[in-house]
Amino acid sequence: MLFGVLLAAGSIMTAEAQDPYAMQRKAMLDDIATLTRETRFETGRAALSERVMAAMNKVSRHRFVLPGEEHYAYDNRPLPIGHGQTISQPFIVALMSDLLDLKAGDKVLEIGTGCGYQAAVLGELAREVYTIEIVAPLAKEASARLAALGYRNVIVRSGDGYLGWPEQAPFDAIMVTAGALEVPPALVQQLKPGGKLVIPVGPRWSGQELLVIEKDAGGRTSTRKALAVRFVPLIRDKR
Ligand code: SAH
Repeated sequence: MLFGVLLAAGSIMTAEAQDPYAMQRKAMLDDIATLTRETRFETGRAALSERVMAAMNKVSRHRFVLPGEEHYAYDNRPLPIGHGQTISQPFIVALMSDLLDLKAGDKVLEIGTGCGYQAAVLGELAREVYTIEIVAPLAKEASARLAALGYRNVIVRSGDGYLGWPEQAPFDAIMVTAGALEVPPALVQQLKPGGKLVIPVGPRWSGQELLVIEKDAGGRTSTRKALAVRFVPLIRDKR
């Protein structure tokens, strides 16, 4: 009996040693579930899909934050990543991923790679992820980090995502993770019929609305508001 208890304690300790952030990540998932329920009347979703929750559980957010900040990595809030930019709040990452209704075979475009966390989550949910970051050093760091973590299906480039990625279009889904003043027309063009675009739109630094834009089989779009949000601004390349 005593032997059994000791064995059980031993296996918990081994799990903790293998993944010291497992409990913090579990608490993050609980926070995401709670916030999802609390915002269900705005987002239209009382719970996120099991696929999205599994992806949030799998990606090691502590590998995407600044050195020394790992302890806060699973707090449900944005954190600084340098260059005046941030890693998005886990709840928003999970919600936006869910709103795209991704299938395993999908080809996805993300605008605003930052540290690459959202791209990794998308990489768990889709076949191929193309992601664009305007701050060149961030793009380089994210690309190296994603490669080191084994995300061979995520391709990063630096540039102005306002113009999308025409060489790789069309996409099953597109996500913008910086606040735009308006919906970039190129992104709507690069969306497949039946595809979804999720994008925060509104005035700089103040409140934005997270929009879900759907393109039907005939190429017509419809837009709905999913949540009031606050993102760093989508900036334009002045070259
Ligand atoms: N997706 C990130 C969030 C990054 S914050 C995550 O997983 O946490 C938004 C990012 O968008 C910043 O890194 C910013 O530099 C970038 N950005 C802003 N304007 C852009 C543009 N026009 N094209 C591409 N990236 C842009």
